[in-house]
Amino acid sequence: MKDSEQQVSFMIWTGDSPPHVPVKELSTKLVINIIGNMSSTIRNFFPDLQVFPALGNHDYWPQDQLPVTTSEVYNAVADFWKPWLTDEAISTFRKGGFYTQLFESSVSSQPLRIISLNTNLYYSPNSVTVNITDPANQLAWLDGILETSSQKKEKVYIIGHVPVGYLPFARNTTAIREYYNERLVKIFRKYSGVIAGQFFGHTHRDSIMVLLDEEEQPVNSLFVTPAVTPVKNVWQMESNNPGVRLYQYDLLNYSLLDLWQFYLDLRDANKKNESNWKLEYILTKAYGVEDLKPESLYEMVKQLSVPHSRLFEQYYSNFIVSYDKTIVCEGGCKTCQICAIQYLDYSSYTDCIKQEALWR
Ligand SMILES: [Zn+2]
Repeated sequence: MKDSEQQVSFMIWTGDSPPHVPVKELSTKLVINIIGNMSSTIRNFFPDLQVFPALGNHDYWPQDQLPVTTSEVYNAVADFWKPWLTDEAISTFRKGGFYTQLFESSVSSQPLRIISLNTNLYYSPNSVTVNITDPANQLAWLDGILETSSQKKEKVYIIGHVPVGYLPFARNTTAIREYYNERLVKIFRKYSGVIAGQFFGHTHRDSIMVLLDEEEQPVNSLFVTPAVTPVKNVWQMESNNPGVRLYQYDLLNYSLLDLWQFYLDLRDANKKNESNWKLEYILTKAYGVEDLKPESLYEMVKQLSVPHSRLFEQYYSNFIVSYDKTIVCEGGCKTCQICAIQYLDYSSYTDCIKQEALWR
């Protein structure tokens, strides 16, 4: 990325630094040290770059149990991230692991606001937040920030670790608890005019979502970026190659124009004992769309839904970051992918799953 010669305005870092190992192999001290190492590594490579980080479910010990009040981890991480964040951002981060900050543009008169959510508070395995309607009052805070943003005519990028919506590789399963998912979708619909893009991580896979409003009109583009580490569950056939990406946005109004996905062929790298990062695809070229705006992505998903769509084969290969071209996703696998791309709330998603026989 450093050698790409692109003018990079800022970096979005969606979390999960510690290794995904059993809880007993880590500790609060180890987790803090690992996040500290990652933060200083990024700063050493990009000393002058503005970085907007978000916390992941592994950025805590025990993993997933991120608390709703201040904690040793939140405080330590706040200190690591001080060079990138304002005092105000650091102060909300210490209390709940989330923050908002303006990005200072030298080109546009319209401000861009970054909102870094702690969606780990909503993550299903987080037992701390069970039965809490608004953990750390983050939902009320988010609504308030977006309301002010819309009054001030700002644009907003939402960043976070665990994504909203349904998991594309599992049927009827949201990553965060359904109750919180419904509430977030409602907020994102309400302020879709302000939100110019949403960026998540967590699944290690490359997937896209288009938020539709109640009239089924596309109103928001959401991206789940693949990880730099591979992951594989016992019940999964596939893993992923490491990936990083570069987005292009409109310098004046922050609408998303394109993305370059880079990857490392891990088998090849291991064989040759060298890492040769390559361009995997350019989104507009790969899917034949004009840009990354919600309308364009909605066009794309219609193409993908067609039976025996070659474009969908491409999408699935990208989903696993070119891990294995021979793995195909058909039938129920494709249904889950297609429904997850365009239906983020319970009622529209379940309708889609029920109708699978009609369009497959
Ligand atoms: Zn994660």
